[in-house]
Amino acid sequence: MRRIYNFSAGPAILPIPVLEAAGSAVVEFNGSGMSLLEVSHRGKDYEAVHFGAQARLLSVLGISADEYSVLFLGGGASMQFAQVPMNFLGKDDTADYIHTGEWSKKAIGEAKRFGAVNVAGSSEGEKYACLPTALNLTPTAKYVHFTSNNTIEGTEFKSSPNTNGVPLIVDMSSDIFAIDRDHSQFDLIYAGAQKNAGPAGVTIVVVRKSYLATATDDIPAILSYKTHAKADSLYNTPPVFPIFVVGEVLKWIEAQGGVAAMQAHNEAKAGAIYDALDAHPDFYDPAVTVKADRSLMNITFRIKNADLEKAFLAGAQERDMDGLKGHRSVGGFRASVYNAFPKEGCEALAAYIHEFAKDNG
Ligand SMILES: *Cc1c(COP(=O)(O)O)cnc(C)c1O
Repeated sequence: MRRIYNFSAGPAILPIPVLEAAGSAVVEFNGSGMSLLEVSHRGKDYEAVHFGAQARLLSVLGISADEYSVLFLGGGASMQFAQVPMNFLGKDDTADYIHTGEWSKKAIGEAKRFGAVNVAGSSEGEKYACLPTALNLTPTAKYVHFTSNNTIEGTEFKSSPNTNGVPLIVDMSSDIFAIDRDHSQFDLIYAGAQKNAGPAGVTIVVVRKSYLATATDDIPAILSYKTHAKADSLYNTPPVFPIFVVGEVLKWIEAQGGVAAMQAHNEAKAGAIYDALDAHPDFYDPAVTVKADRSLMNITFRIKNADLEKAFLAGAQERDMDGLKGHRSVGGFRASVYNAFPKEGCEALAAYIHEFAKDNG
């Protein structure tokens, strides 16, 4: 099997044992004489996958099934931008949003359709090169929403905003399972699976049961979190295959030592690349100016002499490194090094960063 260094931001790299388990289940699932793609979602073989993934997800996050429900939904994280306010924000209510990039902008845009939005902090003035330092929170807000990792810009909250008791909602699409946070501080976590948790096609929603009880009932059943929580996320046919893969990713994370071990590994990996960039300050511009705000998942940078960008990418390709082009809205480069990305790949990129600066500086 050929395996290159895949720095893609998403859909993104998955661990080889996960791919092997997925491949084998697609051919024959559990000795059933059927493919995973052919079995009923009401059968006991699939139920073990479904409930196993839910239980493992809570255990990996260090929170309990007494307090939280796990939902596996469709529509991507983008649907959550609308579903969160549809469930929790009435037209006379206010929600606080922390604005840190392209994804929070979309979340704010959808929330405004349902109620009032207070942008409680923003780094737009700094072109998202850091995180906001001061927040202007609304004491009566229905919730505070933030994006834990800004996939496009390359900033990441290592600790969460203090909301003084207002419910906290987080878009964790690109760093769920990567940072050892206290997850009991969140009332709702959502994440499209395809960055750090599995393949495209399922969105993970973890919601505190007592907070869910405050959601409106006056919306279509299929868009109500309560509907899905009541039915254990089997109200309609769930995305069976991506859920299976998420379950395998969770087994792999457990085998690596859990989220704390993932974070330590991620710090070493990202550190190797940032150190290489920082060693050549006259040649490279890391996009994130405040070091503490730098993402462990998405490392964004430019070459000061933009004429060299094409040559940098071509040389990377020759070294079997793919997916380094920055998001089309910001340009430059982005190295996405999610949980499954190997340390050797980070070291290979760091070596190339040094070499390219020496040859062209
Ligand atoms: C990718 C991404 C999204 C959008 O996810 P979809 O599943 O494509 O809708 C939202 N938020 C963040 C932080 C992301 O990285």
